[in-house]
Amino acid sequence: MKVILLSHTAEPEKQIALAANLCYSNTDIMEISKKFYSKEQQEKLINILLNNNHLSPFEHASFTFGIEGVSRALSHQLVRHRIASYSQQSQRYVTMKKDVPYVLPLSIAKSKYKDAFVKYIDEGKKLYDLMVKDGIPKEDARYLLTNATCTNIIVTMNARALLNFFELRCCQHAQWEIRKMAFIMLAEVKKVAPIIFRDAGPSCKRGFCRENDNKCSWFNIFSRLEKQDLNMQDL
Ligand SMILES: Cc1cc2nc3c(=O)[nH]c(=O)nc-3n(C[C@H](O)[C@H](O)[C@H](O)COP(=O)(O)OP(=O)(O)OC[C@H]3O[C@@H](n4cnc5c(N)ncnc54)[C@H](O)[C@@H]3O)c2cc1C
Repeated sequence: MKVILLSHTAEPEKQIALAANLCYSNTDIMEISKKFYSKEQQEKLINILLNNNHLSPFEHASFTFGIEGVSRALSHQLVRHRIASYSQQSQRYVTMKKDVPYVLPLSIAKSKYKDAFVKYIDEGKKLYDLMVKDGIPKEDARYLLTNATCTNIIVTMNARALLNFFELRCCQHAQWEIRKMAFIMLAEVKKVAPIIFRDAGPSCKRGFCRENDNKCSWFNIFSRLEKQDLNMQDL
């Protein structure tokens, strides 16, 4: 899995501070936009917004990610997040090569089913290849490719949608592959917008569990991941 933050709104935190300021100001927009916002002012304004659940200003900062080598099982979950823009590698136009990568879940890799799983995927790829060479349209041949098949996708989300995404997908209750991707995305946006995303992540980070799971110990693991005291690979 490769996750790259391709681009983002210039000075995302200033942009949000500016939008917040506008809501409470009777000066004109040019005046407000020329104003200097120190990091402290930005943080103060952003905290007021977060504490008051006044989230629309967060929609003015966008982040675009390039994501490679994730499964179609993941991308199907990802695109359920409607407040986002997506461009995904097409299986109608792109021929899946014989060596098209796929995701092998650890639970299967460690099990007695590993060989059967790999064989099943390989057989499917061979049949796909045969059919495409024989003139079956790619858009039909792809029906036999599995959810494990890798895909590449570009996704753009604004900061508000991302906060929601991180809450849902960094949680222990999220599926492992999308959780891993969400965690990498969070680490990337924190580098460029640490104030906005300081408390982003599963709801336990903000002191409650949206899943009402009092047996979950994810908060400790998540905190260790954030401090880089633990690697995703170690899980
Ligand atoms: C652990 C987990 C398990 C899941 N299991 C299932 C499952 O079994 N089956 C399944 O189908 N899905 C499942 N989902 C997907 C889930 O139901 C959501 O579709 C997905 O997480 C996207 O979340 P969202 O709607 O908040 O995000 P977005 O679509 O990005 O929407 C963001 C927010 O905008 C608002 N919004 C967006 N569209 C509308 C609208 N049409 N009407 C009103 N408000 C709107 C909502 O407040 C929403 O929270 C699961 C998700 C998780 C995290």
